[in-house]
Amino acid sequence: MDYYSSYQAIQKNIPSNVKLIAVTKFQPVEVLEQFYKETGHTIFGENRVQECVSKIKSLPASIEWHFIGHLQTNKVDIIVPQVHMIQSGDRFKILQEINREAAKLDKKAGVLLEFHIAREESKYGLSFDQAAELLESSSFTAMNNISIRGVMGMASFVDNPVQVRNEFRSLRNIFEQLRRNYFSNDEQFSELSMGMSGDYRIAIEEGSTMVRIGTLLFSDRSVNASA
Ligand SMILES: *Cc1c(COP(=O)(O)O)cnc(C)c1O
Repeated sequence: MDYYSSYQAIQKNIPSNVKLIAVTKFQPVEVLEQFYKETGHTIFGENRVQECVSKIKSLPASIEWHFIGHLQTNKVDIIVPQVHMIQSGDRFKILQEINREAAKLDKKAGVLLEFHIAREESKYGLSFDQAAELLESSSFTAMNNISIRGVMGMASFVDNPVQVRNEFRSLRNIFEQLRRNYFSNDEQFSELSMGMSGDYRIAIEEGSTMVRIGTLLFSDRSVNASA
């Protein structure tokens, strides 16, 4: 029963203006209930659609959910009504679909634009040029039910802090350039979501406003949970 001490240890490294997203992937509901009970933490992130929906159903309504995984267009209708923010806005088509579903609910969906900053090929995300083209398109301007709140990205999984720092720095530059060019009158464009268990301290040094942490928070017990 000791999520609290590891939670506290991590929170100590996170300045109060940086939000901690507790990433719940692979964690069963019982673990999350316990974590919530012990820590009172209320910002969770999940990257798989079905898991996300069933966890939302089972956990207290006071929890704010962030969808952080690659999203297929045919699952958007399930996610949009349930979450506070979709952090994986990685292509035009998905924004279009999110906008359509949010319009049905007469709400504005909070979305982060996801950028590909890692060297690894496998990661999803936009390039700066793709994002600029998207943001300048008339079809984007017509999306009245989306609110772009900032950007998200993942650094390479490498044991090279210099490379990781450079990748975070490139995301920060993208964030600031987009803010100048497209969102100078929009205070809602304010989030720079970067940093995970292995690299969140570097991300914070490079200006992160949201760190997404799973393994570090839950690792002690995920072994038991999956046994
Ligand atoms: C899994 C995941 C995280 C958290 O990763 P950890 O290394 O477990 O902290 C953060 N962001 C995304 C998009 C993820 O898929």
